[in-house]
Amino acid sequence: MADVKVVYIVGPGRSGSTLFADVLAQSPNVVHIGELFWYWKRRQMVPPSLCGCGHPLNECPFWNAVAERAAAATDIDPALVDEIFGLASSRRLPGLWWRGRSGRAALPGYGERLGELYEAIAEVSGASVVIDSSKQPGPALVVASLDNIDASFIHLTRDPRAVVRSWKTPKIDEVSPVDSLNAISPIRATLNWNAGAYGAELLVARRAAPGRFKRIAFESFVAAPQERYVELMEFIGQPAVTSLFVGERTVRLSPSHTIAGNPGRRAGDRRDIVLDEAWRTELSAPERLAIVAVSAPLMRKFGYDLKSTNGG
Ligand SMILES: [Zn+2]
Repeated sequence: MADVKVVYIVGPGRSGSTLFADVLAQSPNVVHIGELFWYWKRRQMVPPSLCGCGHPLNECPFWNAVAERAAAATDIDPALVDEIFGLASSRRLPGLWWRGRSGRAALPGYGERLGELYEAIAEVSGASVVIDSSKQPGPALVVASLDNIDASFIHLTRDPRAVVRSWKTPKIDEVSPVDSLNAISPIRATLNWNAGAYGAELLVARRAAPGRFKRIAFESFVAAPQERYVELMEFIGQPAVTSLFVGERTVRLSPSHTIAGNPGRRAGDRRDIVLDEAWRTELSAPERLAIVAVSAPLMRKFGYDLKSTNGG
């Protein structure tokens, strides 16, 4: 069997990655499965987490078929589930990097299971390209080390002021409260943004095979979604389906079996690709200054205007 292609999206939470990945997955040979990193944790939740298709995860026909094909990869010890979860911590990044360099497994048993899971997902979906919008750089380093996976990485950046503003408020999922996203303090959200972005640029980009790492700002995607979409599909190596655009910035999406991600992901099939600019009015001047003071080197690298404010 040919290697399964995985396109792993790395970037900060609340960056617009759920919609972004859904758009990329509209080609027949591509499937978006949400944040696979959360798979094991979400399977254990009571009440159950909802799949993007609206079924509880443990009742979704797609995920049940995957679990049947990869039983050894899906039914794992709760202690290992907790250890997997720990890979998201930025403190684990240096260790994961060194282990990957020396060819050692990040967590005994984890890489094999992840590889099997990707293969089962490709088999059940019939797609040869799996888009995983897990976002954390730690698990991305594990994906880069898998022998049976042909991995590419898209670093989706977002202005840290927008990310911090978004994390200030919880995102409540009315239908499935367990899938709600908690609020995070501005300082923690700023540090997370920086740790994640350095992890992506310094570690994941270097571990990716030549030509298999691409950076794109969510802002540039919103500015010209159709052009960026065509470029991204070229990077992924799959045909673009431009008919999914029913307006300049409006897409018609088919339902996807996505794990975790933004609660808005079940919001119907027509979606507008828009930029949330609320940070310009909702962040105070000291908050904006503090975020820029910490994030300036990376903001410059990614092309963000450090002075951009609401005129204040
Ligand atoms: Zn589903």
